[in-house]
Amino acid sequence: MAQSTGNCSKCGNSDWKSPRHVRARGVTSTAYADLNIITCNKCGFTEFYELTEEELVPINKKVAKIFIFAAVVPTLIGIGVSIWLIWG
Ligand SMILES: [Zn+2]
Repeated sequence: MAQSTGNCSKCGNSDWKSPRHVRARGVTSTAYADLNIITCNKCGFTEFYELTEEELVPINKKVAKIFIFAAVVPTLIGIGVSIWLIWG
């Protein structure tokens, strides 16, 4: 993922680590902020970038998938085991 970040505002270096995605949530609010963290390879200076709608599409898909595995699959297994116990 290439992002034109320019030069580090601290040391002027143009060598950045690849962006890492983080999801931040306010303490009292339920709103999420999806951000890219980009860190300078030289001095460690870190900048935050808000993700664009385009960048969010695959992430939201991934979140939906994780939700299915974390919530839906155990429920189905639970139902399956109950049926198995009743009929078995
Ligand atoms: Zn730097």
